[in-house]
Amino acid sequence: MKPLLLPLLFIATTLTAQPLIIRAARVIDGRGHVTEDAAVVVEGSKILRIVPNAKTLKNVTIDLGDKTIMPGGIDTHVHIGWHFDAKDGRSHDDETDRNETPQESVLYAAENAMRTLEGGITTVQSLGAPVDKPLRDAIARGTLPGPRILTAIEPIFDDKLSPEAMRAAVDKLASEGADVVKVFASQSIRNGGAPTMSQEQMDAICGEAKKLHLRVAVHAHGPESVRRAVLAGCTSIEHGALIGQTELDLMAEHGTYFDPNIDLVFRNYFENKSHYLGIGSYTEEGFAQMKLAVPKALHVFQLALATPRLKVVFGTDAVAGSHGRNFQELEYRVTTGGQKPIDAITSATSLAAESLGLGDRVGTIAAGYEADLIAVDGDPLRDINALSHVSFVMKGGKVVIR
Ligand SMILES: [Zn+2]
Ligand SMILES: [Zn+2]
Repeated sequence: MKPLLLPLLFIATTLTAQPLIIRAARVIDGRGHVTEDAAVVVEGSKILRIVPNAKTLKNVTIDLGDKTIMPGGIDTHVHIGWHFDAKDGRSHDDETDRNETPQESVLYAAENAMRTLEGGITTVQSLGAPVDKPLRDAIARGTLPGPRILTAIEPIFDDKLSPEAMRAAVDKLASEGADVVKVFASQSIRNGGAPTMSQEQMDAICGEAKKLHLRVAVHAHGPESVRRAVLAGCTSIEHGALIGQTELDLMAEHGTYFDPNIDLVFRNYFENKSHYLGIGSYTEEGFAQMKLAVPKALHVFQLALATPRLKVVFGTDAVAGSHGRNFQELEYRVTTGGQKPIDAITSATSLAAESLGLGDRVGTIAAGYEADLIAVDGDPLRDINALSHVSFVMKGGKVVIR
């Protein structure tokens, strides 16, 4: 038996371990480096290396021609479950009870996950609803298509809680398997963005999270809420539409990540106004507040780009109507905000990964990283709108969209 069995086993292993060689006109590694005429070699779920002068390679598995390969996008702020209900087109978020079964809700979320992946996003942080968790786990099992999901499960927003109760809330989220804590430290932009949490409350949340090795993403619009979050040692500031240079400098000094959401979230509300109007703070007055916030958010973003050492990451605050259009936020940051295309791509790949504590696993095309790769038509460094033309997606070494 032995002489026969050994060669067979050998063949079986070499066949499954056969690396894939994916060639394109250029490869952007997610850390600011570009290799023209290059191939990415993938073995199993991991990247082996980038090979230059790929035209001379004979055994290319997938030739992507004039396209550009880059790491899959990483959106640090989405709401993966929010959707428009099929029956009446109305927006369905975490706060509205619309007589939907959990089965229906999770399928809407799965549809959003598929759209997100088709849009070239292979990792998201969902900030966050209970439906995220079974979806996260189902996608991680490897059959259901969707981005890798990190979730906050349920945000902390009750500003009446004592510091002890805040710590208990963080403990509960940790025991439920949250990847991150989301806290509302200010009002919505539609209500003026004033602080809601005290310094003691923020200290309790972010201090407890740190003990449990959990990151904290803070919803904060105005200067005082941002200041409290940064001083409490929280991980990232979401939005920050009403802050100034002082708060940006403070974030840079403390290494706090800044995720300004400056275009897609607003534009999506305006484009889909009829689906939202009349729900909660989505009133005419709320919409007027959002219109006013657009130029302010753009100004803060431009100040942020010019702030030394400030880590500005990519996040969209994707809600119903935005899923799959995530990269439109990045296009706006370049075309209107003035960010360099290569920096924008880094902010949505390696830097976003670092901000999620995944900096050694995803977001970079280099040896040992997960093979999360996308290809876009043309060269996004010349025309960032190429990001709207995603024609190839690989996640964990599996081609999911081509
Ligand atoms: Zn619904
Ligand atoms: Zn949000």
